[in-house]
Amino acid sequence: MPAPKRKVSKARRDKRSANKGMKVKIEVVCATCQAPVLPHQVCKECGHYKGVKVLRTKSERMHARAKVRQVKEAPVKGDKTEATPPAEQG
Ligand SMILES: [Zn+2]
Repeated sequence: MPAPKRKVSKARRDKRSANKGMKVKIEVVCATCQAPVLPHQVCKECGHYKGVKVLRTKSERMHARAKVRQVKEAPVKGDKTEATPPAEQG
C-alpha cells in the first residue's frame, strides 16, 4: 500500500484547511435588473451580460413552449370532432 513519503508539516496542513470555510462573496449586481450576480457571469434572472442579451431565461423558454403548445392544441377550422377548446393545464 502506498504511503506518504514524508510527514505533512503543520503549516502545509493548516494552509490546506484554511480554504475549506471559504464562501463566494457576491458583490456585483446586474446592470439591467439589479439582481446579485457572480462577476464575469451572465445574469440568470434576465439573461444579460454587460447590457447585451445573450441568454434565454427559464421563464422565457416556458412562455415560448406554452405558445407552441397553444398553436398545436388549437382546434383546426372545419374540424367538427372537437367543439370545445382544450382546458388549460399547469
Ligand atoms: Zn439581470
